[in-house]
This record gives sequence, structure tokens and C-alpha cells, in this order.
Amino acid sequence: MIEKHLGGCVCGAVRYQVTGSPVVGTVCHCKFCQRRLASAFAVLASFKHEAIEFLEGEVHEVEHRSDESGRWLRMRFCPKCGTTVAHTAEIRPGMMTIAAGTFDDPSWFTIDRHIWVQSKLPWVSIPAGVASYMQGYVPPAT
Ligand SMILES: [Zn+2]
Ligand SMILES: [Zn+2]
Repeated sequence: MIEKHLGGCVCGAVRYQVTGSPVVGTVCHCKFCQRRLASAFAVLASFKHEAIEFLEGEVHEVEHRSDESGRWLRMRFCPKCGTTVAHTAEIRPGMMTIAAGTFDDPSWFTIDRHIWVQSKLPWVSIPAGVASYMQGYVPPAT
């Protein structure tokens, strides 16, 4: 059976469901993610577009260009509470990434890599054996 997982924004207006496991689980330490999520790093679960279904609530989209990568990201957020629940990115066509802190249970998937470690905060430790990259991870051309 393919597992489904639910999540949503902080006010509960936006609800989504994902089917199956993420293609990749990433922690991003870039300054852009630190600022856009007002946090130390971003926890990101990337899925094929069709694996994510928005069930309830209005979702607004705003485009930003990362000052570190120079590429666009389109943030999807709840207009009522401002929580960013997902984004699409220029670098990943056909994919959508869930801001994984918005899962009802954010512990269910694994982190495959840490990226933009060059701007990692000094009190954050990366577990041994997890791939890490000083800058972004560029997917191999297919
Ligand atoms: Zn909300
Ligand atoms: Zn980032």
C-alpha cells in the first residue's frame, strides 16, 4: 500500500496530502531559506508534482529569486496565516517541494542530504554519514 501523509498551514485553512515517499529529503542551510522561513535551515521534502494534492484552502504564490543560486522559487503560502507550505523551483521542473515542518508528523521521511553548508549556523551539527554540499546540489543531467 502506498502511504499518504497529511499536512497544512498553522491556521489550518490549507491542507494537503502527499502520496508515497519524497524523491529526496533535503536540509537547506542557505541564507535565503533561513530568511524566507525565519529559521535556522529549511527541511524540504521534494515530490513529483502529481504526488501532492491540495485538499483545502486557498493557496497564494509569490516568486522570489534566490540571492545565492540566482534561480527562481515560487513559494506557495496560506494568505490567512502566511505559512509557506510548499514551493516549486526553476532547478527542479516537474517537482514540488513541501516545507516539511508543515507535515502533521514531520518525522516520517529521511533526510538524504544537507546543502549550502557554507552558510550553516555554527551550532547546527550534521549527522555523520549524511551527504553534505558546501553549495547547492545540481541534479545530474538526464
Ligand atoms: Zn493558514
Ligand atoms: Zn535554501
